[in-house]
Amino acid sequence: MNVGFIGLGIMGTPMAANLVRAGHTVIGYDVSTARLDELAELGGKAAASIGEAVAQAHVVITMLPDSPQVEEVVFGEGGVLDHAPAGLLLIDMSTIRPETSRRVAQAAAVKGVHAIDAPVSGGEKGAVDGTLSIMIGGRAEDVESAREILRVLGTTIVHVGAAGAGQTVKAANQLVVGGTYALVAEAIVLLEASGVDPKAGMDVLAGGLAGSRILELKRHSMIERSFNPGFRIDLHHKDMGIATAAAREAGVALPMTALVAQLIGAARAQGHGALDHSALLKVIERINS
Ligand code: NAD
Repeated sequence: MNVGFIGLGIMGTPMAANLVRAGHTVIGYDVSTARLDELAELGGKAAASIGEAVAQAHVVITMLPDSPQVEEVVFGEGGVLDHAPAGLLLIDMSTIRPETSRRVAQAAAVKGVHAIDAPVSGGEKGAVDGTLSIMIGGRAEDVESAREILRVLGTTIVHVGAAGAGQTVKAANQLVVGGTYALVAEAIVLLEASGVDPKAGMDVLAGGLAGSRILELKRHSMIERSFNPGFRIDLHHKDMGIATAAAREAGVALPMTALVAQLIGAARAQGHGALDHSALLKVIERINS
């Protein structure tokens, strides 16, 4: 298939590379020319505009930072909907506000474009390995027609509801991930302050009921204070905003989520926005020093 791929960042580039390896023709676009050069080296084609990436596409995937970028790319002048061939399948895999996904689906339908929201979990490693978890909101028939492409990118692919529902599930995912990082950081601070070897201590936690994918993948780098992204604090801050707004819209109180949102906000205020979200450890350390 011809796949237009817009947004070739930390996640988008390895995802596009997997589609190339699976035999699809990938025509990518990004505002960064360095990203376009990288795609060309990986066997994709670099487009000079959104229109060029979309015009011949059967499927367009967007993997952009936030709602404003998705709105600009989809609704903007010269954007996806301006150039979309009839019957195009638009898969937005960015993490954005559910209401934006609903607006994209509605506006797309008017143009004969089938849009689904399909945010992901699994991080850069999941993108590289093609093992992402993908949570999809949209119409069942559109989700079915997306499966062939999505199977290249992920291993857990679940249709969770109507347009926007994928984003609501992703918000739930992000509050669990943020809260887990905060508690893992507190455990490391406690062990070190008590004179217990954090490596040995965290190895035990990883093998017991407290074990998690975060402990499995991140405990060593956190103990070593290595915070190369990965997933940036700035993006997790955005996601906690989506989670708290979703809670407000649903009329529920999520006190732990609110606290974690403030801790991630503090990490950003302390200048750590470009670091990996495991740098939440720096905030917990600073509270204690
Ligand atoms: P990133 O900042 O590395 O990549 C975003 C890319 O979009 C950049 O290359 C940027 O140049 C490009 N871009 C921005 N505005 C654009 C525009 N108007 N037109 C074309 N290109 C544009 O971000 P990322 O880490 O790849 O994350 C992308 C999305 O995936 C975010 O919504 C993020 O929350 C989500 N996500 C990220 C991870 C992760 O571990 N990094 C995991 C799951 C989900």
